[in-house]
This record gives sequence, structure tokens and C-alpha cells, in this order.
Amino acid sequence: MTYLKLENIWAKYGKHEPFVLKGIDLEVKKGEILALLGPSGCGKSTTLKVIAGFVTPVKGRVLIDGKDVTPIPPNKRNIGIVFQSYALFPHMTVFQNIAYGLVLRRLPSAQIKKKVREVIELVGLTGLENKYPRELSGGQQQRVALARALAIEPKIMLLDEPMSNIDPILRSRLRSDLKSILKRLNITAVYVTHDRDDAFEIADRIAIMNDGVIEQVDIPEELFNKPKTKFVAEFVGVENTFKIDYAQVEELEKYLSLVINDEVYIVLPKYLPKSKIAYFGIRPEKLIIVKEKPSKPPYIKGKILVKAFKGVLSRYVIETPLGSIVVHSPSRIRNINIGDTVYLTYNIEDILLFSK
Ligand code: ADP
Ligand code: MG
Repeated sequence: MTYLKLENIWAKYGKHEPFVLKGIDLEVKKGEILALLGPSGCGKSTTLKVIAGFVTPVKGRVLIDGKDVTPIPPNKRNIGIVFQSYALFPHMTVFQNIAYGLVLRRLPSAQIKKKVREVIELVGLTGLENKYPRELSGGQQQRVALARALAIEPKIMLLDEPMSNIDPILRSRLRSDLKSILKRLNITAVYVTHDRDDAFEIADRIAIMNDGVIEQVDIPEELFNKPKTKFVAEFVGVENTFKIDYAQVEELEKYLSLVINDEVYIVLPKYLPKSKIAYFGIRPEKLIIVKEKPSKPPYIKGKILVKAFKGVLSRYVIETPLGSIVVHSPSRIRNINIGDTVYLTYNIEDILLFSK
């Protein structure tokens, strides 16, 4: 059931400024973790500010549990917020930081103590109650920020790049702790990040945002396997995308062909969108490097420019008539070296097609 809903939100920062959000529609279910993933500047934080009530949209509505909260001020929305910068009070202890929202609400002190102890245990900070933020590691400070947001028992939690100041090795651990806490408390969460791994690990669903619009919302598996636009594809790791002019394509019985010269013979599935310009893409791990020209298409001739060992896979950059192409190939194949002439081939079912 939808708990948080954004309806056609248009927002900007000044009367004469351009729109930053251009018709955002988004639905988050009760207890769901939705990641808002997109490049810096695309409007992710602004979307959170609209949900929290710090930015009033020019047009559109925010609904929480079916109720229009657009005119309601931030402090009446019962939303917990965690920022990248933690925003802890340096002169207050861990206990005081976490208690802050409850003190503002004038709860009796016995009740505050009980609640603070409860969330301190939940986020794994027991024993650190009397420390000051400067005495804590980045990960511990982020846990304090999380505990402070949880203390007010929010129905909705907004997290804005909460992992970006955390050591990469600790990130995974903190992420799974965060996920299990949100799930245990059945909190509806919007988690903003520009990091694909971050989004894929924590989210039930991911919304991909580009320049003030949402391009696709899906579960991680669907986004990975069926990106709908070139932008989404590139964001989920389809490193090779190509533009095609439909006029160049020839329709054969089983597939479409695109022959550029005797070095490049591409085959594409028949359901290519029949727009004048279309795009196709292929993941680096779906391309196969061979040393001899294959006896039948598809093939793309190229020269190895870069080779980098990355563990199980090695990463190759190959110069081809279509531009440079990235291939991830099992590292145990050892006889491919910089400067070698090679051919790339693939299975037609690994081709992804996009109309924009
Ligand atoms: P993201 O969080 O995805 O990096 P933001 O929502 O912070 O993006 O910003 C989107 C756009 O709005 C950017 O072009 C940014 O410069 C502009 N912007 C953000 N905050 C303000 C502000 N307080 N005043 C004016 N412009 C802003
Ligand atoms: Mg931001």
C-alpha cells in the first residue's frame, strides 16, 4: 500500500530560476526502502526537501498516508532526516544529541531516558552515551545521527547520502545494519545516493533520476536486466552504448544487420524501435574477445588499448571503428595483450535496445 506519494512535483529555488524538479511522480509503499539514485545536481536533495517540507513545490502535492501534507510545516510532518554531514551538535554528548528532538517535544525525562537507551541499543552504541562527537569515528557519528532521527519514532525516514563520509570497508556493514533497523521498525524510507552499489545493496526499489525527472523506477534486478533508457543503462553499468540511424540498418529474416565495413558486422534483435535514431548497448562482461575473425557475424574488429587485472575479471579497453569499447573478460584467459588485434563478438540476446 502506498504510504508516501509525490504527485507531479515542480520545484525551483527562485522566481527567476529554472525548475530543478520537473514533474516528479513517486510512490513509496509502507515499510519500503526506496533509493533515489542519480548524478550530482540532478535534484535528489531537493526532492527530499520537498518531502520534508523545507521546499514548497510550485506545483504538485505530497501525500503521506493519503493525506495532503503540502501545506504542513516540516516540524509537523513526523519525518526523520539523516544527512551526509551528520549535523551533530559538537558540544553535546551522544545521549544529549539523541535526546534533542525529544527534549524539544517536552517529553518527561524518564521517558526520554528510556527512549534514548532503546535507540542507542538498536544502533549498537551502548557504552558511548557520554562521549562527544569528536571522540567518535565517522561510522559511530553516523549511527548517532541515525539514532537521533529514530528517537522521534518517525513514520518516514529521509537519508541523504548517509554513507559518503564513511570508510568504504565499513559502508557495507553499516548499510546492512541500517537496512535491518528500518525493516524491523517498518519505517518507510527514501535513501538518496549517487553510488550504484549503495542503492543496489539497500533498496527494495530504485528510482533513477536525471536532470529533475525520474527515468525509471524498478526493483534492482529489473533495472539491471531491463534498463529502459540509455541514461539508466549507463547508470547501471552498461558501459557500451551506441547510437544508430535506422536508415543504416538492414532487415534480414531473423535479425537486423548493420554492416559498416569488412571489420564491423553488427546484428541486432528485430524489435529495435523504429525511430529514426535509436540506441543499443551491451554490458562489458557480455562481450567475448577472440583472436581470429569469426566465420559468421556479429563481429567488431579492434585493438587492445588498455588491460587491467581486477581479480576474477580483467578490464580491457578496445579501440574499434565504433569508438572505444570496454570488455570484462575472465582473467584466466591470458594470451590477450596490449596492442593485439582482436575481434569482439556477442550473443544477440545480450543486446539492450533503447529509444532514447
Ligand atoms: P543533488 O542532491 O541531486 O546533487 P540538488 O537537489 O542538491 O541535487 O540540486 C539540484 C539543483 O538545484 C542544482 O542545480 C543546484 O545547484 C540547485 N540548488 C540546490 N540547492 C539550492 C539552493 N539552496 N539555492 C539555489 N539553487 C540550489
Ligand atoms: Mg544532494
